[in-house]
Amino acid sequence: MKQSSFPFLLQFHYWSPSYYKTDPHGQNLIATVNKDSSLTNKFQLKNDILYYQNKICIPSVQELRQAVLTKFHSTPVAGHLGFQPTLARLSSSFLWPGIYKDVNHLIKHCSVCQQSKYMTKKKQGLLQPLEIPTLV
Ligand SMILES: [Zn+2]
Repeated sequence: MKQSSFPFLLQFHYWSPSYYKTDPHGQNLIATVNKDSSLTNKFQLKNDILYYQNKICIPSVQELRQAVLTKFHSTPVAGHLGFQPTLARLSSSFLWPGIYKDVNHLIKHCSVCQQSKYMTKKKQGLLQPLEIPTLV
């Protein structure tokens, strides 16, 4: 996976070096990965981008996570797919703690989805009285 596969990430190039070198959370993450040899095999830092098993780890920068979520759900190419397809496409290339919750929240609060998607459940209808039993 190359960063150039996702050109929209280039606009956020300012955050990545500073996040892992100056942000306390980013520094802590890199220190933890370097201490534990079992984690070192799974995480790789290339060109100031952290990868976990060839998936780009998106740092805890809300603006960046929101941009990635938007690209994978709300653009015309993404097509406002449902929860499972959006999560599958997103998690094949990106990863962060709480990605499941963030995708769920985005889709539940997406105004386009709320206005244009229909209910897939049957209408419940009215309550019907039960028959009176003749035998006990
Ligand atoms: Zn949507």
